[in-house]
Amino acid sequence: MARDRYNHRPMTTLAHSSIDSDGERIHSALTDTSLRPVIDRVIAGDRLTVDDGLQLFQTPDIWTVGSLAHIVRRRLNGDVAWYNINRHLNYSNICALSCSFCSFQRKKDDEGAYEYSLDEIHEQVLEALNAGATEMHIVGGLHPWLPFQYYLDMLSLIRDTAPGLHIKAFTAVEIVHFARVAGKGREGDEGIRWVIQSLRDAGLGSLPGGGAEVFDDRVHAETHRTKISGDRWLDVHRIAHEEGLNTNATILYGHVETHADRIRHLQLLRQEQDRTLKEWALDNDVPLADSIDHEGRPHGAVVLSHPDVAIRRLQPTPETCSTGYYQTLIPLPFIPDDSRLEHLPGPMGLENLRTLSISRLMLDNFPHVKAFWIMQTLEMAQLMLQNGADDMDGTVVWYDITKVDGAGTHQEVTVRDLQRAAREAGFQPVERDTLYRPVRRDGREWHVD
Ligand code: SF4
Repeated sequence: MARDRYNHRPMTTLAHSSIDSDGERIHSALTDTSLRPVIDRVIAGDRLTVDDGLQLFQTPDIWTVGSLAHIVRRRLNGDVAWYNINRHLNYSNICALSCSFCSFQRKKDDEGAYEYSLDEIHEQVLEALNAGATEMHIVGGLHPWLPFQYYLDMLSLIRDTAPGLHIKAFTAVEIVHFARVAGKGREGDEGIRWVIQSLRDAGLGSLPGGGAEVFDDRVHAETHRTKISGDRWLDVHRIAHEEGLNTNATILYGHVETHADRIRHLQLLRQEQDRTLKEWALDNDVPLADSIDHEGRPHGAVVLSHPDVAIRRLQPTPETCSTGYYQTLIPLPFIPDDSRLEHLPGPMGLENLRTLSISRLMLDNFPHVKAFWIMQTLEMAQLMLQNGADDMDGTVVWYDITKVDGAGTHQEVTVRDLQRAAREAGFQPVERDTLYRPVRRDGREWHVD
């Protein structure tokens, strides 16, 4: 019998009449008939191929692309639009690297360069507590001189000040940097594992998805060649999963990459998640792999969005479980302003919408896709909710990385703004914690079931 996401309560699979009507509706409005095989695959819950993904980028029928993504989004998340109450902490913008698409980094003597002391971080944690935040999202530049102990002290301070606050911190790029700083850089995967274990023991709860950019050697060489490779990024997340931490993933698109590069990036993430979910299912004694092993599916595929899948959404990793997984894909549009690639135009609205929809369709084993309003605007996030996204991120407040044109570091929306945006788009807003457990709240006090 099928089961519910959080506690394996029984849940019904999708009625086949609704699947049939989805198919009829899409076929009847179709303007590009060459999409029929792709439509049939999505309706049946079969995995899309690389060629399918490329066709979805090329078709002029963007309505069909978005409608297909909406079907998959509904299968996975119903009419829920997730949001959280969070705070971002960018502890320093001083960075040893100079990636060409980055407008955040500064050198030590540059105007605007900063690093927070632990006292300043403490103040921000108290503010987060006062605001009833459930999550602290922490990333920064690759600071050349801060010792590894600074990061451990930061986490311990937050854990001691606010034990209930989930700490989602440090991109894979920072984790590799910490291994070097801690003298573990030559120990390969074991050095990375040591760093992740040390951070986890100090309070780290999960890893954000930043720094993935586009997994392609040419793009890596042209835009961020001093940064870790795509393979290394995937290694860090694999090790984090093995250590029981959930993680997210991103794709930074719209600069020098091609559509084929974007699809390849998504395919690599999907492949990694297949492997991770099988481990997760074994570890949790959940018959995930058996229940979705339909004839004709590529061997080893784990398609959460199949109409008959038993486990559609995943139980958050409990303390007793040793395997984490990818939760969410966050498509990030390249924003040229103040970067060394300022001469490039960057993507616009429909390209952003299409990339998000195709991400939803290709990543059939990712539970969530996020419309990151800080880089997309809240109005665009509403459209994205109707075209594949199920999550809008959170209330934020201070955000110092790349933002939409002209926005300052103060980036705040209220809970009411997020709820109104979700409802206006036709969805039910639900506050979540970092692990997508619904939050029950009484003012600043909150708990998850
Ligand atoms: S993208 Fe990250 S690693 Fe690259 S320059 Fe900016 S802060 Fe540094």
